[in-house]
Amino acid sequence: MVKVNTISKYFGKEKAVDGLSFELKKGEITGLLGPNGAGKSTTMRMITSYLFPSKGTISINGLDTQKHTLETQRLIGYIPENNPLYTEMLVYDYLEMSARFFDSALADIKRIKETAKSVGLSDKLMTSIHELSKGYRQRVALAAALIHNPSVLIMDEPTEGLDPNQRQDIHRLIKSLSKDKAILISSHVLQEVKAMCTSVIVINKGRLAASGSLDSLSGYKTIKMQLEGSRIKDELSKLIKKDEKLKISDDKAKIKEVRISTKKEIHPEISALASKNKWIIWEMQAEDSLEEIFKELK
Ligand code: ADP
Repeated sequence: MVKVNTISKYFGKEKAVDGLSFELKKGEITGLLGPNGAGKSTTMRMITSYLFPSKGTISINGLDTQKHTLETQRLIGYIPENNPLYTEMLVYDYLEMSARFFDSALADIKRIKETAKSVGLSDKLMTSIHELSKGYRQRVALAAALIHNPSVLIMDEPTEGLDPNQRQDIHRLIKSLSKDKAILISSHVLQEVKAMCTSVIVINKGRLAASGSLDSLSGYKTIKMQLEGSRIKDELSKLIKKDEKLKISDDKAKIKEVRISTKKEIHPEISALASKNKWIIWEMQAEDSLEEIFKELK
């Protein structure tokens, strides 16, 4: 649905985005993950044609965004960062105005009511936006982005500033919308992406750091331990299968640093081995591979 082909963006001499390529597919919720300043908003602004790439191309349903800007913008619903809304307006009026922005034929009561219903806003249509909680304001932004039934939905940090319950509501809503849309959500919070997304693109300093399905990126766990005792290497090696990895620090050290990468849950087996061999477990923690990738970003 969306193809991003080696895009770069310069602001003066600074390269905010550097040769980024990825695809967004229908039915998938993709998380654009990276620390602040990684280039997430800039990437989203390029997909939505609020900015054009300095290099590279983006196509939506086969249409180049630079050659078919208005046409491709109509295929996208976009919620920018910090969710700017006209807070003095009634929800209904705001949605009507948003519909007119695309096409006055969309500004009919039925369509506005249906869109409001799809995001749980039916009983707030006659409320002023400034009277709404942050969670409800975000629903208004979502309804406005959906009013023209776009096939692509782009949301820049959509749950920033919401409390945990409001976040969960938004997660549920976004999931319910994903069946017939390609959705891209940016976040600098790893847990958020894990809770919502089916695939992940990790960027750092404008470059791709990792990408893939959430399962493939978070499937492997790395267990880090500090173990003291004898025959640690021999015994642990027996646990490790072909596609798994075992790394043990300097053999002479009394306390060994051990790292195991595995797809299965092996804590019970390690505990059993430790008890059989009278090892002391000084430390033990598990991280999945996505957590590890994310931790290493600076
Ligand atoms: P993120 O959304 O991941 O926090 P941004 O895309 O906002 O990152 O920013 C990436 C880099 O580009 C940052 O270093 C930021 O300062 C710079 N940048 C973003 N927008 C502009 C702009 N309009 N003019 C100059 N520099 C910008």
